[in-house]
Amino acid sequence: MSIRFTALNNLGNTIQANNSQNSAKITGIFGENVFNQATARKHLSDEAYKSLQSSIKASQKVDREMANQIATGIRSWAESKGVTHFTHWFQPLTGTTAEKHDSFFTIKSDGTPIEQFEGDALIQQEPDASSFPSGGIRATFEARGYTAWDPSSPPFIIDIGSGSTLCIPTIFVSYTGESLDYKAPLLKATEALNKAAVDVCNYFDKNISRVTPTLGWEQEYFVIDEGLFNARPDLILCGRTVFGHSSAKNQQLEDHYFGSIPERVYAYMRDFEYEAYKLGIPLRTRHNEVAPAQFECAPIFEEVNLAVDHNTLLMDIMARVATRHGLRVLLHEKPFAGINGSGKHNNWSMATDTGVNLLAPGKTPKTNLMFLTFFVNTIKAVHDYADILRAAIASAPNDHRLGANEAPPAIISVFIGQYLSKVLEDIKERVSAKFDEQDESMLKIDIHKSIPELLMDNTDRNRTSPFAFTGNKFEFRAVGSSANCANPMTVLNVIVAETLKQFKKDVDSLIEKGEKKEIAIMHIIREYIDSSEKVLFEGDGYSEEWEKEAERRGLANVKTTPLALDAMITEKATELFENNNVYTPVELEARHEIELEKYIKKVQIESRIMGELATSHILPAAIRYQNTLIANIKGLKELNMPESAWSNQKQILDKIADLISKTSDLVEKMIAARKICNNMDDNRTKAIAYQSQIKDAFFDTIRYNVDKLELLVDDKEWYLPKYREMLFLR
Ligand code: ADP
Ligand code: MG
Repeated sequence: MSIRFTALNNLGNTIQANNSQNSAKITGIFGENVFNQATARKHLSDEAYKSLQSSIKASQKVDREMANQIATGIRSWAESKGVTHFTHWFQPLTGTTAEKHDSFFTIKSDGTPIEQFEGDALIQQEPDASSFPSGGIRATFEARGYTAWDPSSPPFIIDIGSGSTLCIPTIFVSYTGESLDYKAPLLKATEALNKAAVDVCNYFDKNISRVTPTLGWEQEYFVIDEGLFNARPDLILCGRTVFGHSSAKNQQLEDHYFGSIPERVYAYMRDFEYEAYKLGIPLRTRHNEVAPAQFECAPIFEEVNLAVDHNTLLMDIMARVATRHGLRVLLHEKPFAGINGSGKHNNWSMATDTGVNLLAPGKTPKTNLMFLTFFVNTIKAVHDYADILRAAIASAPNDHRLGANEAPPAIISVFIGQYLSKVLEDIKERVSAKFDEQDESMLKIDIHKSIPELLMDNTDRNRTSPFAFTGNKFEFRAVGSSANCANPMTVLNVIVAETLKQFKKDVDSLIEKGEKKEIAIMHIIREYIDSSEKVLFEGDGYSEEWEKEAERRGLANVKTTPLALDAMITEKATELFENNNVYTPVELEARHEIELEKYIKKVQIESRIMGELATSHILPAAIRYQNTLIANIKGLKELNMPESAWSNQKQILDKIADLISKTSDLVEKMIAARKICNNMDDNRTKAIAYQSQIKDAFFDTIRYNVDKLELLVDDKEWYLPKYREMLFLR
């Protein structure tokens, strides 16, 4: 029996993972595997505890002198939970997380075996950097890299099977200081935003001394049966199906969204949530998504750094827990053609150390002015640096969403809702170019009175916008489901930091000219609205009219990754990242190279698997069925049956013969085209070639022929699980 039918047969006997442990109250287990403040208090001396707290607050490395004490405290906590090994946990640019486990166990010089975990092992390690992408940094600089503990993210324990490992969240840098991961730049960008935002906050409130970006992500994913997954080499190797005719029933009935969650998936969700809670990941919502077999989960927002760690950690956990349930989770942006893809909305705002959300409209005219300042600066940042923001979400899998009519388009625009659009209009009208003292009433815009209205505005908010204001935060919706949020968050934080710095300069120069502070601020806000309002769009982002309108407005619409990535290495980008101490030009170049390489490899793998499946799965099945038809027709003819008895079979045979020859011909041509691409040296040229000469030139046409064959060939002969089986089986 083929692997497809074995999998289908086994569907009835799916594993029932034991969920009994998961009935615990969330508060009882929340964060139990995290070395959080309370745990630190218990396991550290006063001195060590204080030192750790101050490092966390100031986002500084832990003091070397204290490191030994802190490490000992962490080890005693970890050992009390059965941990024997530890690892530095980091997020290299490959897109997954990395770890190298070491044992606490060691042997002293006199041969006595002991368990030990020293300060050095806590704060710094040297993983073998050579297996991670560095975009040429290693070639030019120093070969080694090291990981360093980032104390703003607490150590945690991961339970895998019966083993438990202590994980130290770290950044990964080369010995010459270049960042080799996602986290180091994010921390730098967070710092840049902090400085710039505090400076601006101090116009309004001198007590504010720290501003932290906050992130609440919404993770979309598909879940399918593991047996069926294993019968699809394309899912195994590239995370998406390269073939598969759409099912007779698709998502047209829209009966999945907010429908009841299937039993098996529900058990899975509860299980991974349980693991997440132990790790202090504050998951809050779970529901079905638009597409069949698609779901979403979202936590309560956190400080961006922690939120990023929690998202990458959760993606790992989701994949691991799925296998316990005989399931597989698909985090790919577009696992199934013709079915909605998956995104990861990044809800973003800024919070002050005085407890104020800077993107929440205030209760007094003064706090409203502060809100407006940050609101308008964010819009201007997105307007001025839309290209860099677009680059930050560019990836081969995300190309399937952006630009297709289901996800935010590749055009970056901002949705703010009717009410705030009106506020901005008012400001433009009332703050004339020569704003004078009599107009001071202007400062009293009472946004707060309209808050109920504002909230209403959000309930029917625009879901087609890539960047939408949703009441007290912006929601960056164009991020892909498999992406590490750190990259888009790094860019967003930097561009807002840069804009706020300029804002401060602009306001100060008016103040120096003798303008009153509030009036100066209002003036610059008005200027910024003027210069960036073309990025505002309230209509249907999926429509064709918008593409045309955006073009008229001069907004970019870059649909493919290789070209979108160009924005990373422009003079503008280099200046932006260097000014804010986030990337050096060398690091930017390196990242650009890495992204291009990733793109090339992904398309290359898809192209190979397509060729292979067509040649070794599809064509043999089609030929077997072709033979059956031939034998049938021959037999009927031998019996002198009239033409009407075999003419229909003959027609099917002709179609199949035609599809077989087209498929095999296209595959041959694609292989030849790949050879040409592979000989290209420059990665940008090669990536563009892979996109236009391989992906665009062959993927859809090969798929078209294969999917037609799927409908014609005897179901028994077809070895790849079909869409209806993967998507609708519960
Ligand atoms: P929806 O699906 O309607 O977009 P959800 O409730 O699923 O909304 O997700 C909204 C996300 O936004 C949650 O993760 C929530 O914690 C987050 N969020 C709320 N306020 C803020 C904020 N100030 N900063 C960042 N994220 C926030
Ligand atoms: Mg959302």
